[in-house]
Amino acid sequence: MAEVEEYPGTRLTVRNDGRRCIHSRYCVLGLPDVFVPNVDGPWIRPDAEACETVIAAIS
Ligand code: SF4
Repeated sequence: MAEVEEYPGTRLTVRNDGRRCIHSRYCVLGLPDVFVPNVDGPWIRPDAEACETVIAAIS
C-alpha cells in the first residue's frame, strides 16, 4: 500500500499520508459520510459533502 493515497472527487482530490496520521479520528467523527473507516474500497469520499466543508475539516 502506498503511503500517500489519493481519493479523487468531482471538485476535490483528498490526499492521505498514512505516515502523518495519529489516529485521533477527528476526520471520521467530524464528517462521517466523507471519512468512512473499515470499509472495502475507498474510505475517503470527497463528494459526500460540499467541497468547502471537506477543505475546512482537513484544514
Ligand atoms: S483526522 Fe483522521 S486522517 Fe487526520 S490524523 Fe486524525 S485520524 Fe488521521
